[in-house]
This record gives sequence, structure tokens and C-alpha cells, in this order.
Amino acid sequence: MRLHYDEQTEEFRRELRAWMEANLPPSSERAERVKSSAHIPEWARVWQRKLFDNGWLVPGWPPEYGGRNATPVQQMVYFEELARLGVPRSCNPQGLSIIAPSILDWGTEEQKARYVLPTLRAEISWCLGMSEPNAGSDLAGLRTRAELHGDRFIVNGQKVWTSGAHHSDYCFCFVRTDPDASKHAGISVLIIDMKTPGILTRPIAELTDSEHADFNEVFFTDVEVPAENLVGELHHGWSVAGGSLAHERGMLWINEATGTEKILERVVTTATTPLPGGRLLADDAAFRTTVARAYMQTQALKLLGYRGFAKFAKGEKPSEHSVLKLLGSELRRGLALDVGEALGATGLDMSRHEAPSVGRGDSEAWLVHWLQSFAGTIAGGTSEIQRNIIAERVLGLPRK
Ligand SMILES: Cc1cc2nc3c(=O)[nH]c(=O)nc-3n(C[C@H](O)[C@H](O)[C@H](O)COP(=O)(O)OP(=O)(O)OC[C@H]3O[C@@H](n4cnc5c(N)ncnc54)[C@H](O)[C@@H]3O)c2cc1C
Repeated sequence: MRLHYDEQTEEFRRELRAWMEANLPPSSERAERVKSSAHIPEWARVWQRKLFDNGWLVPGWPPEYGGRNATPVQQMVYFEELARLGVPRSCNPQGLSIIAPSILDWGTEEQKARYVLPTLRAEISWCLGMSEPNAGSDLAGLRTRAELHGDRFIVNGQKVWTSGAHHSDYCFCFVRTDPDASKHAGISVLIIDMKTPGILTRPIAELTDSEHADFNEVFFTDVEVPAENLVGELHHGWSVAGGSLAHERGMLWINEATGTEKILERVVTTATTPLPGGRLLADDAAFRTTVARAYMQTQALKLLGYRGFAKFAKGEKPSEHSVLKLLGSELRRGLALDVGEALGATGLDMSRHEAPSVGRGDSEAWLVHWLQSFAGTIAGGTSEIQRNIIAERVLGLPRK
């Protein structure tokens, strides 16, 4: 069987490639480092704005929102090409891929005009305030309170693991507005201006990067938020959360495989580059088997992604998401460990950790790759939670 796209879709790919080749900022221009997932350096602002102006930022959306009404299949091709180029569309992924579409789904017309367009044009950046110290996997257990007093909410509480909070302009924040309602019923969503008095962001140092932190603890003390910043209906934030997480999962079809392919390319480079003393990992039979197995698993991931996507494009509700997320993230973590172990002491050499110029996770040091690889098994639902979902919703096993 030969899997391929039709000629019309390939024509779309050619047009996209030609545009990208002509407009992609050269690496010399991309020198300013991204400090967090809400820090947008000037070159990235210009790049995102150019994508927006030319209908290549979110091709599946209508032209007035930076798109070109691309079909689902064309969007798949778009993400394949972006992955091949290795340049992000946006340096504030949560703003572009989760929050802007959530405001389009649930926001008022005024909120759409005020927040969505500036987000697409990279004029403002966002953080996502979901997790709390006792509400991560069990998000519905969140306790940050928002009380409505006249025309404003007063917010008190704490978020944690808030990526980019210290560099963001706004927080898309999940708060408890009815403490007497059942857990899922009393939640609402507020847009909070991060410059409002009473907000303290405290970056959390990371093992992988001593200079820059992405995560934060965020404390809210009597923070006043205009009532008009409520997104969706009062106490109906759980539906917004479901929609936001679905947007987050939207790119999983292809990204799990392409992300793993990029790492495999690095593995091959590492294996074919002589180590101190002249040893080549590529000469090690056990290591070659490890790499071959990882390659086969990556191909399986890709086909699984295409199968899930084909169901999605036909309007079905595919169950492949959890399997893809679990397999992809665990494969990358296992591979990073295998390479680190095969390298031995050389794999611990942090002097080979060059600061990435674009995005994070571009590190040269395998130790850093391995440490970073845990993030994928936690963010967006941990591996244990994915296993629960697969057991209960895919395989139909009884709930524990
Ligand atoms: C890279 C990255 C970026 C992130 N960015 C953000 C962000 O911008 N905004 C935000 O709000 N959050 C963010 N998070 C937080 C993330 O959503 C949470 O870490 C995640 O939901 C898990 O929650 P937790 O850390 O509280 O762990 P917990 O839920 O406390 O889980 C602890 C352990 O218990 C296990 N466990 C929990 N419940 C069950 C169960 N029912 N069955 C079996 N095992 C279980 C988990 O798998 C885990 O191993 C980010 C996390 C990462 C890694």
C-alpha cells in the first residue's frame, strides 16, 4: 500500500513551500533567544505577523482571522511542512493554539475583537492558568476563588506550573465562582491582565536551564477583574476547559511523530560522530537495534496519527489521541535515556549544551534531552492519566 495525498493537496504543499522558502527569517535573524513560552522576540513578532498577513498563520481559519479556509487535509500538510522547517509559527503557543481558539468559541464579539486579533498578530502574549498545587490531573479540584462584587470579580488563590506567566500580558484563568456547587459546576474563566495590582509571579528554576525559567507560581491577592472579562457563562468554565484542551490536542496527529523523527535525526548524527577516543556508537550492534526499534515505533506513530486524523476528518470521534500522546512521549523519554546510557560519561557533558536560539528542547547535551523528555509525559495529561483513559474509554474496562 502506498499512502499519498492527492494532486490538489500536493499543489497546496508546493505553494506553501515556495512561500516559506521566500519568507522564512534566516537563522542569523533568529539569534535573539526565546526566554519563555510567552516571550516573543522582535524577529518572532515580525515572522508571526507576516504569516498572519499572508493567510499562513492558521490556514484552517477564515481570512479575517489570518487563515484561508484550508481543508483539514491541507492543515495536516501545513503542520508536516512546519515540522520539516523546524521553525515555530508562534513563540507563544498557548496563546495561538489554545487561548485564541477558545475565545473564538466562547467569547463575546468584543472579546474576540479585543484579544483574538492582537494575539494572532503577536501583539500580546498569554499564559494559561489551569493547574494549582492540588489541582493538576484533577483540574476540577481547583480552588482559586473569584467573587462577583458589582461590576468586578475579586480573585484570590494560587496557580502553579504556569508557563510564561512572568512574560505574558494576560492570563486565561480558571477560577471557582460557586464553592457550593458540585466540583465541575462552579468553575468560570476570566481574562486577567497580568499587570493588575495583587498578582505576584514567582519563576520556578528548572534543572535543564539555570538562566531562564518557563514555569511560575502565580499568586492572586484581592485582584480586581472587570466582570466583562468573564469568558462564556458564569459557572460554565468546565465546558470551556474541555474545548481548550481539545484545541491543545488538535496538533497531536502529526506532531508526536514529527517531533520524534527530529530526535531520531539527532540520534543518527550522534551515532555517526566520533566520540572522544574515536568510538562510534553506530558500530555498537545493541545500539543499532535500539535505533531501528525506535524508527519502527515512530513509523507506527505516524500511521496511527494518520488513522486518527482520517477519522476526525470524516467527522468521527477518534480514540487515538491518548494512545499517540502516551506512545510518543514515552518513546522520546526512553530513547533519550538509551542514548545517554550508550554515551556513558560523554552524555553528561553539559559543555555541549548550547543555548537554543528558537524554542526549547534544541539542546545538544543528551542529559538535557533526557531531563526535558519528562515534560512531554506530564504536560497535557500525564502518562498514568492517558493509561486510565485508554483503559476506560478505549478498551471499555471498568472504572477503578
Ligand atoms: C512542560 C509543562 C508545561 C505546563 N504548562 C502549564 C501551563 O501553562 N498552565 C497550567 O495550568 N499547567 C501547566 N502544566 C501543568 C500540567 O498541566 C500538570 O503538571 C499536569 O496536569 C499534572 O498535574 P500535577 O503536576 O499536579 O500532578 P498530579 O495530578 O498531582 O499527579 C502526580 C502523579 O500522580 C499521578 N496521578 C494523578 N492522578 C492519577 C490517577 N487518577 N490515576 C493514576 N495516577 C494518577 C500522575 O500521573 C502523576 O504521576 C505544565 C506542565 C508541564 C510538564
